[in-house]
Amino acid sequence: MFDYLIVGAGFAGSVLAERIASQLDKKVLIIDKRNHIGGNAYDHYDENGILVHKYGPHIFHTNSKKVVDYLSNFTEWQPYFHRVLAIIEGQKVPVPFNLTSIYKLFPPNFASKLEDELIANFGYGQKIPILKLRETKNKNLKWLAEYIYENVFYGYTLKQWELKPEELDISVTARVPVYISRDDRYFQDTYQIMPRYGYTKMFEKMLNHKNIKILLQTDYKEIIHHIKFDRLIFTGPIDEYFDYLYGPLPYRSLEFDFKLVNYEFYQECGTINFPNNNNYTRITEFKYLTGQKCSMSVIAFEFPKSFQPGNNQIPYYPIPKQENHILYKKYHQETKKIKSVTFCGRLADYQYYNMDQIVARALNIFEKEISL
Ligand SMILES: Cc1cc2nc3c(=O)[nH]c(=O)nc-3n(C[C@H](O)[C@H](O)[C@H](O)COP(=O)(O)OP(=O)(O)OC[C@H]3O[C@@H](n4cnc5c(N)ncnc54)[C@H](O)[C@@H]3O)c2cc1C
Repeated sequence: MFDYLIVGAGFAGSVLAERIASQLDKKVLIIDKRNHIGGNAYDHYDENGILVHKYGPHIFHTNSKKVVDYLSNFTEWQPYFHRVLAIIEGQKVPVPFNLTSIYKLFPPNFASKLEDELIANFGYGQKIPILKLRETKNKNLKWLAEYIYENVFYGYTLKQWELKPEELDISVTARVPVYISRDDRYFQDTYQIMPRYGYTKMFEKMLNHKNIKILLQTDYKEIIHHIKFDRLIFTGPIDEYFDYLYGPLPYRSLEFDFKLVNYEFYQECGTINFPNNNNYTRITEFKYLTGQKCSMSVIAFEFPKSFQPGNNQIPYYPIPKQENHILYKKYHQETKKIKSVTFCGRLADYQYYNMDQIVARALNIFEKEISL
């Protein structure tokens, strides 16, 4: 007999399991259909002893002290500033596209003019979504906006989503704005840190509690009628939970091709983007992220894929479009009819959450809905 059955051992499920077990002294069974905990943040040492992120590069960054303080109960940290270069017209230039990118691509006099006009029109240090920059009336900046749109966003977005940038919610391209600055870090958050011993070790500590039992390689449908529990917390796909009552929610999937290279470092920084060439979007080299020291390295090529439910593919990214949001809302209405189930997580909320956002959401649900 368990007080809680939690479906999914990613951040959403694990944070809630830990809180319920340690703060409420209740018994929790947490299950996952995968053979490991950690959800998409799972990392492991591969056959050559190199720490890799199985489901793609995960870089922790946040402005929330509360989230950092909470996770610090389960890990030490090390600093890491992620940097990304994109190959544009044969040059490797910083992304988000910034003042350094301009000077790398254009003749100095023209670059200087663009810099002056950007600062005069928007101000130094401002981040401008590309779709907003395209609306400018300034002739030179309009030209720059079209250049960036064509060379940085268009091809990448088509590969990633099979959609043009303007067909997605503005929030998608706004995640990588044009940055009027020489700061070439990918993020500017207060905390840019990685768990010193990796994410999986952090999850192991989080779930190491006498009140928590873990069951892996088990789909919740296999056991839901064979286990006694009071409440269910569901962090899997909301459309699957309701047997696709309103049809499947659209997702994008990914495939990763991991390659061992016989160099200490293969590339200049954590990630190189390929907006205009190849059918992969980016190459990530994990040693930059993990800080591991060794003579060889592992890189991962990232191939976006379409997603069909029931095809053994992983639903990685909810597709942020108005019509999909409306479909999600129908499922959300259904959740209100069942009081004994809490829905939380990237798949259950059909939301692209960063890790810090889902930790904050799980803590909030615990405080406002569960611990009362
Ligand atoms: C490629 C990629 C890169 C990312 N990079 C970053 C980054 O750099 N920084 C950042 O902050 N965030 C990043 N994220 C986001 C991050 O992965 C999420 O914020 C986080 O994983 C969400 O946790 P979750 O628990 O909601 O979902 P998940 O981690 O997806 O966990 C859900 C779990 O539920 C399990 N499950 C689903 N259905 C069932 C079922 N029927 N029965 C049993 N178990 C089930 C799944 O197996 C999974 O383990 C990235 C995401 C992706 C896809």
